Amino acid sequence: MPILEIQRAEKIHDYIQKLEKLTNLPLRSSPVILSSPRQQISLELPREVKQSYEYVEQLYEDISEHELLFKAIKTGWEYINSGYKIVPTSKEDYFQQINKSYVFQVAKERGYSVSDDYLKEHKFCYGQYEMYYAVHEIMQRNAFDFLLSKSYSQNFIHTYTNWYKCVKLISSQFIIPLTSTVQKNPHILDQLWVVSHNINQLRLLGIEIMGEGEFLSRNQRKTNNTVLLNQLGYEIYQVASWWCRVDPYRVICEFLKASGIFPDATKYLIGAELNTIDEYVCGICHAPMVRWGWDWIQRYQIGNKTVLAHKDCVARKHHAGH
Ligand SMILES: [Zn+2]
Repeated sequence: MPILEIQRAEKIHDYIQKLEKLTNLPLRSSPVILSSPRQQISLELPREVKQSYEYVEQLYEDISEHELLFKAIKTGWEYINSGYKIVPTSKEDYFQQINKSYVFQVAKERGYSVSDDYLKEHKFCYGQYEMYYAVHEIMQRNAFDFLLSKSYSQNFIHTYTNWYKCVKLISSQFIIPLTSTVQKNPHILDQLWVVSHNINQLRLLGIEIMGEGEFLSRNQRKTNNTVLLNQLGYEIYQVASWWCRVDPYRVICEFLKASGIFPDATKYLIGAELNTIDEYVCGICHAPMVRWGWDWIQRYQIGNKTVLAHKDCVARKHHAGH
């Protein structure tokens, strides 16, 4: 009987292999994080807060935007995080809106200049779906469980609580103006994390999911954009879309580590020691593995050796009484 976990893993591994042949790029052995900022950028929160829920409510809609965020920041943390709603509650709603045409439509309504071609684009970047699914699982449900249960030490709980507390908002798609003299062009981040920093500061961490096309042509335009985004106060983390498909939880942990908001994150993640996508192989059935559900990769003891294995393979072994 084919198992969903294995079917999905085989499909994704196969796809990446084909993509690698097609592009002649070492995708399976590429780093998870393709680029991260040279330094942290922290912004001061205003000392005088302007009391208003107006912008804050809009900010917590599914897709958010630069000018709105900066207006909301003026209200201070008390307002911004008043609903304790870090990610939109419904994963399903988000998935309907993930395609590019939707975000460009929102940008247009907010006064950006968007060409009609963009409004027709119904694609979304591979890996984006998986990344958001994982973020949702972590923030809404299994925040603890996706990390090693045996690491519930005092120290772990302390660092864990700290990073969890500092995350104020995760926007699925985020619109930033890149302005030329004549028009306001939208730049879309795949995720924006708004985190508190020190006592009265914040950091804006943008995640860009890079497809193989962008990896191939890491061109000047992209670099220029990053410089502009830095000037506006955003730190940009570029992650590999193919890694997002194999292990979005790993990508998030690597991002938490790189950004410094949870430096030990990868230490607590099962399988974070795997260096390449080829190493994502089940120690029991030897088929490829991916981590679409937070518990899909598990540890299993064979003799005196610990292997990583499919959740399903481990369950069957336990069922058989081994
Ligand atoms: Zn297996």
